[in-house]
Amino acid sequence: MSAPQNSQNRHDSFANLDTAVVQAGRPAVTPDGPVNPPIVLSSTLHAGGEHGYMRDWNATLDAFEQALGALDGGKCTVFSSGMAAANAVFDLFPQGSAVVASQFSYTGVTVRLKELHELGRIQLRLVDITDDVAVEKAISGDGEPASWVWIETPTNPMMEICDIEATAAVARHFGAYLAVDSTFMTPIRQRPLELGAHIVMHSATKGIAGHSDLLMGALVTNDSALAAKIIDRRVLLGAVPSAFDSYLALRGLRTLAVRIDKAESNAQIIAERLANHPKVSAVYYPGLGGHKNADVAKRQTDGPGFMLSFIVDGDAEDAERVCQAIKLVTYATSLGGVETLMERRRRWPSENLAVPENLIRMSVGIENPNDIWADLDQALNSTGSVNQQTQPKIGY
Ligand SMILES: *Cc1c(COP(=O)(O)O)cnc(C)c1O
Repeated sequence: MSAPQNSQNRHDSFANLDTAVVQAGRPAVTPDGPVNPPIVLSSTLHAGGEHGYMRDWNATLDAFEQALGALDGGKCTVFSSGMAAANAVFDLFPQGSAVVASQFSYTGVTVRLKELHELGRIQLRLVDITDDVAVEKAISGDGEPASWVWIETPTNPMMEICDIEATAAVARHFGAYLAVDSTFMTPIRQRPLELGAHIVMHSATKGIAGHSDLLMGALVTNDSALAAKIIDRRVLLGAVPSAFDSYLALRGLRTLAVRIDKAESNAQIIAERLANHPKVSAVYYPGLGGHKNADVAKRQTDGPGFMLSFIVDGDAEDAERVCQAIKLVTYATSLGGVETLMERRRRWPSENLAVPENLIRMSVGIENPNDIWADLDQALNSTGSVNQQTQPKIGY
């Protein structure tokens, strides 16, 4: 586990990532100066500098950006949510150009890309990103190559793996940019820029901040022309996180390496036990030998991560029963926090209809794995009645 070099900041070059998460983005050493970056609550800045206003720059945001940039090996720009970061990239798509994206993706991303397609803003080509031949065909477009490729790996919630290096090579061959949503992995497990991607996107709301208490997004690139366009997008679109949230996210980042180690070892245990449970008909986790793309996952990641999905034997109501019977684990959306969360994804009206109705997605936390398992096992075996739940109104 070695840290990529970050030429932007001499202090943020660290040999190992588990050191970088703790040490990167700290203030310069001054006697009696703070060890942590202060929370700078000032929208405006004294004249005479190169920034002047908080949409462009703020010292607390900068500290977080230095740290995450050091981990991914590029220049980081933070946004007020993962969706804001994704939309900043979408704003760079040339008018009318072809964009390739994975057929399974974070729901909000798919809905937004489809909107842009409907508006004639882009021509969207959705593809099975586990199929190298189909991916190449979609990017080359028989003489009409794509301008951008947007992938997520692993995908939400099917846990498919896309070969980042191969996709980057094809994208570059056809002159397309590759952006990778790496939220499920975090830089501790996957660094797409090292594999040839142009941009890595994170919903820092999830594993990076790690405590389910804020929304934040980030884009990291090692292409200086793209970095300049990205900061322009933040200034012009205005989706800037607060200094307080940036401070909290950096505080969360400090424990990222140990949290991921624990959550991942728990996830491996839970995935193996689920795979042997009579009430479970399938488990999707890259750490299981039977996973379709286990080889690619092994090659391009430093571990299978903390996310898994499984299919409850039965129908939507049976899966709903399991979610409603859970006691220690929380029935809620989102992921990457210290607490274990799970949900039936199709409770969201906008979820991809190709996602099975009886699929449960689980974000494994850092509790004792036997406690998580005992709760999950009792919920899988429960025979209680199922309450009618109010469906989320917006749904992405
Ligand atoms: C949550 C999530 C997003 C959106 O991020 P927000 O911070 O909720 O706006 C994008 N991609 C993935 C994979 C996510 O899990």
